[in-house]
Amino acid sequence: MFKTIGQSLTVHPEIVRRVRESFGERKKDLLSHPKVTAWMEKEGLSPEPLSFFLSEILHWVREEEHCQACPGYDECPNMFRGYRSGPHLEEGHLYFSYEPCSLELKHQQAVRQKRLFHSHQIPREILDVGFKDLEMDEGNARAIREAVLFCKGFKERGAKGLYFYGEFGVGKTYLMAAIANRLVEDGYSVYFIYVPAFFRDMKQALADSTFQGKLWELENADCLILDDIGAESFTPWIRDEVLGPLLQYRTQNGKPTLYTSNLNLEQLAEHMAVPAKGEVDAMKSLRIMERIRSYTDAYQMHGKNRRRIER
Ligand code: ADP
Ligand code: MG
Repeated sequence: MFKTIGQSLTVHPEIVRRVRESFGERKKDLLSHPKVTAWMEKEGLSPEPLSFFLSEILHWVREEEHCQACPGYDECPNMFRGYRSGPHLEEGHLYFSYEPCSLELKHQQAVRQKRLFHSHQIPREILDVGFKDLEMDEGNARAIREAVLFCKGFKERGAKGLYFYGEFGVGKTYLMAAIANRLVEDGYSVYFIYVPAFFRDMKQALADSTFQGKLWELENADCLILDDIGAESFTPWIRDEVLGPLLQYRTQNGKPTLYTSNLNLEQLAEHMAVPAKGEVDAMKSLRIMERIRSYTDAYQMHGKNRRRIER
């Protein structure tokens, strides 16, 4: 007797027999796969009820095999990149669900960190640094120790930041990057900006009306790092409309600001006083300097110039 498919097609019984046979073999192969037998043994399962889940089991085994020969996150051949399907038994019910692999978890962590870590004009190779990458010497040991303590006590510290100063190339920016990365790992948002470029670009932001948004981001980052303050040319506008309100907002809201500079605090005060025209301007500079002074602990860094490329 011929099987009929639809209206007119028929399948020869020999083909039906062969399909059944090959299906039976594939089923046997699948259920004797080491991964599956190990799982059946662990869960105390017999092969029979698993017949209803053959396509799920096949999918699971295939994805496991992909993972064993993992070609890397970007090349992941699984149905959902970074996830693999796996069986679960709950109160006698079998179901399959997707679990993230370690590369996916790492990827998610990187994405989270990227969202928390904002920077402006800081070279990438500097931004990747962690405390473990820092060489310690006489000239930077104190600053590094304080940096570690800063990160450990970040939650309790409130608005009190750090001010690292010293010659070019002693590692001020590098150390700040280690702080930034540690804080981001701990789930805090950090804005790390190269001051001379940033102040220049803020003027552009004013022109294209993105200024308020940018200022808001700096005001509200958990930690703000102003790298190379004192290397810029201050204008009354930067001082009165950007830096002043920014630092005032941050200190009032208990958010720390960190600085690096080639200048010590006295020299920075002089630098800031330069564009002053009259007493009002001088007062404004003084007030900003007072805010920096009272809301930071300052540490000098010295030592050799470790910089290989000038920027
Ligand atoms: P600064 O900001 O003081 O001018 P950087 O932080 O830019 O100096 O440091 C210059 C370079 O020196 C860095 O890019 C890094 O390669 C190297 N460097 C700085 N500090 C360290 C350190 N503690 N350990 C190892 N390399 C360092
Ligand atoms: Mg620097």
